[in-house]
Amino acid sequence: MSEMEQRQRRHVFFTWSSQENAKGLEIVRAEGSRFWTVEGKDWLDFESQVYNAHLGHGNSRVIRAIQEQAESLAVAHPAAVFPAKMRLGERLAEVTPEGITKFFFTLGGAEANENAVKIARMVTGRHKIISRYNSYHGATYGALTLTGDRRRIPFEPGIPGVVRAEPPDCFRCPWGETPTHCNVPCATSLTRMAEWEDPSTVAAILVEPIGGAVGGYMPPPAYMQHLRSFCDEHGILLIADEVLTGFGRTGRWFAIDHSGVQPDMLVMAKGLTAGYAPMGAVGVSEAIASYFETQPLVAGLTCYGHPLSCAAALATVEELIEENWVDRAQETGSILKDWCSRMETQFKQIGQARSMGLYGVVEFCAADNPRKPLVAEGEAGEKGSPLVKFREALRTAGVHMAVKGPRAFIAPPLTISEAELHDGLKRVEEALSASLTPSTENRK
Ligand code: PLP
Repeated sequence: MSEMEQRQRRHVFFTWSSQENAKGLEIVRAEGSRFWTVEGKDWLDFESQVYNAHLGHGNSRVIRAIQEQAESLAVAHPAAVFPAKMRLGERLAEVTPEGITKFFFTLGGAEANENAVKIARMVTGRHKIISRYNSYHGATYGALTLTGDRRRIPFEPGIPGVVRAEPPDCFRCPWGETPTHCNVPCATSLTRMAEWEDPSTVAAILVEPIGGAVGGYMPPPAYMQHLRSFCDEHGILLIADEVLTGFGRTGRWFAIDHSGVQPDMLVMAKGLTAGYAPMGAVGVSEAIASYFETQPLVAGLTCYGHPLSCAAALATVEELIEENWVDRAQETGSILKDWCSRMETQFKQIGQARSMGLYGVVEFCAADNPRKPLVAEGEAGEKGSPLVKFREALRTAGVHMAVKGPRAFIAPPLTISEAELHDGLKRVEEALSASLTPSTENRK
């Protein structure tokens, strides 16, 4: 461990881990899709830091925008009016799904979800929120209650009024549906729960249109369409949490765009500033925006619309538009898709490998049963087990990516070159070869 890490450890916490188990990453330089750690190791950033560095490292347009903003106006009152804030609102209205017209700014995704729930409760006068199991919506108290994965459990009972439904899982569908024959029972089970709860008490249904860090679940378009019609029928607001999937990650500006559905609220963060400054946002429909013309919006924060974050977000959105990075993610995504199809047939312990745009998920399974997870959710595996070996091989190969429970996630910057993507996928394939059993037959 470097001297710097030792000194930092003394006074600064690492997150989501006991401090003794936390692993520091001392990055000394970063450029494009690569970064270098203190021991001189060269890494390919296949996690875009934490799914946020959509434009990779060292993007000069975003850096310049932050520098110029810092020189002209670095600190501002929440009521401040300035060009970057005004233009950001206009640009977000252009790229977000039709009908989303006005934005409330926060410092990250959890706060954005908290405010979306507050807005839903204020506008509808109802209190229940339906979210899903095996979801992640952030680490603040309310956002953790919305969260359906195990991180919420130490903080239960959490905020009142949250009811969780079964999430979609097209690979291990508990209803036995298949992609070619699917009546989206996951969607009807959610709306049936809402019926039991009495829809007139439900303020909002809050879901990730494509489940993100907990599993990368990719339901068919009919899923969101079913939720939309149910919400319309009962005056419930549909909130799409696109903190991880937004800003081109899945090959469209937002994952909900794949379904053609318009949400009432859109929650954003991460890719909004490509990670260059902290910022989240809640986009709302015209109807919600007009409610607050006469009613007080009981929400705010000291760093609301922070000038440096607005400048970073505006430059990010403009770079994404002008350089066409979203369409390009769709194009380069075909390389990832082909790779996923190949991996599925190549290893016994890969049950499924799927992707959308530049978001890929590998599901590890028992060698004799593709539906049985290789390790339980939240577990890392025993010393010497395939997933432990895989993680070690990735480290040796210099590929930075998340391997959590029975899944690995691939999410490089949208700006990655085709050559780097091929090179990274080859390294991941070699790491898989070093740790899994090759398939002798095609299971598909
Ligand atoms: N929502 C989703 C879907 C996320 O993936 C995350 C973070 O990973 C959050 C919310 C929380 O965002 P933040 O960490 O910026 O609070």
